[in-house]
Amino acid sequence: MAALPDLTEIARFDELPHFGNIRLLEGRVPASETPVYVIDSPWHYLRDGGPYQDKLGQDFPDNAWRFGLLSYLAALLAGPDSPLPWRPDLLHCNDWQTGLAPAYLHYAGHRVPSVMTLHNLAHQGIFPPALVAELGLPAESFAVDGVEYYGNLSFLKAGLFFADWITTVSPSYALEIQGADLGMGMHGLLASRRERLTGILNGIDTADWNPSSDLNLKCDFSARATSGKRRCKQALQIEMGLAGEPNAPLFGVVSRLVHQKGLDWVLAVAADILRQGGQLIVLGTGEKVIEQALRNLARNHPGQVAAFIGYDESLSHRIEAGIDIFLMPSRFEPCGLNQMYSLRYGAVPIVHATGGLKDTVRDGVTGFVYDQADAEGLRQTIARALALFADKPAWRKMMLAGMNQDFSWDKSARQYATLYARLLA
Ligand code: ADP
Repeated sequence: MAALPDLTEIARFDELPHFGNIRLLEGRVPASETPVYVIDSPWHYLRDGGPYQDKLGQDFPDNAWRFGLLSYLAALLAGPDSPLPWRPDLLHCNDWQTGLAPAYLHYAGHRVPSVMTLHNLAHQGIFPPALVAELGLPAESFAVDGVEYYGNLSFLKAGLFFADWITTVSPSYALEIQGADLGMGMHGLLASRRERLTGILNGIDTADWNPSSDLNLKCDFSARATSGKRRCKQALQIEMGLAGEPNAPLFGVVSRLVHQKGLDWVLAVAADILRQGGQLIVLGTGEKVIEQALRNLARNHPGQVAAFIGYDESLSHRIEAGIDIFLMPSRFEPCGLNQMYSLRYGAVPIVHATGGLKDTVRDGVTGFVYDQADAEGLRQTIARALALFADKPAWRKMMLAGMNQDFSWDKSARQYATLYARLLA
């Protein structure tokens, strides 16, 4: 709310069943004409921590109501009781937090088409069955053909079942989640809806992530003038306390430090990287054991390994600009953004062949893609990368091939527009 200075109240809901007293505010997305509606309910939302979890990283115990309310209001604004002077043609929901909206639409009998976009199937919004009634869903909704999921209520299942269309953030992930390996219990439902399940790759903000005009950097470069990248590398080595070796292959990771991201494999190959003269920088936060292991690695290898445990967007830009090689060995990856930032910043990505990583990096052309999901797979691919790194013209060719890729939102936006038009027809 602090980022939206011109909020005005447009409606009040007193004693809204199940959710209490709520104000609806309207503002504008900063520097644009796009309206934004804010549910003002201090009881639900005014508290320390992030959107989903408290400061200690624990899910808020009342998340079912917090996101149930978000879903409920979205459905309400799409129906005849909306206080708005206009009605949406279509409701586009993202992840489990909005998963109940298509269910509320269905049970209210509103005929507004909905799209459910999956960003990460690992988060399913699962709650005890008693909440079905408490969130104002009819008893009959607690069924296989409804919001029930293995004896519980799942917000995500509700969205996947009731939405008119399902999208996910890369074509490969759209296929992978229909199988038991990556389907996380939802594969049966997803496979049964495959005619209405497509992948649309995420884009990146090419203004924010532009190495020729990035205010986070003290240097600039582009595919046409790459020499600034060497200065970025030197500055990064100084900032991170690494030895100032211009020719050392500098590896980097920017990531949530969770099992999904394969940091255990990075830890397993770190000794190999260092033995071959490489340096390693990791920026991230997450599971305490991974954080500690990275701190230990940095402590044992001063000048060669730097671990920055924290969230720092500006530093993430300087890392992408300064490193030679970006590691992204994710076990699964719905889309992934950092491999695209890396390509744009001349940091050649090494990625596991999964989801969006497979769809954005071309092995041997813009980076390195490997199938074998373990430390050995990563080790062998690093060896391949280091062999190419020693061949300066070949390395430069790969770097430039990546930098010249277009990952802007234009293409994805056109695909969403086509999908919307199809649903409205
Ligand atoms: P996921 O959504 O699974 O975390 P993505 O690659 O899709 O993975 O997006 C992660 C985003 O968060 C990227 O923009 C990445 O740069 C950013 N990020 C993750 N951890 C950090 C951190 N510690 N500091 C700064 N940015 C981070």
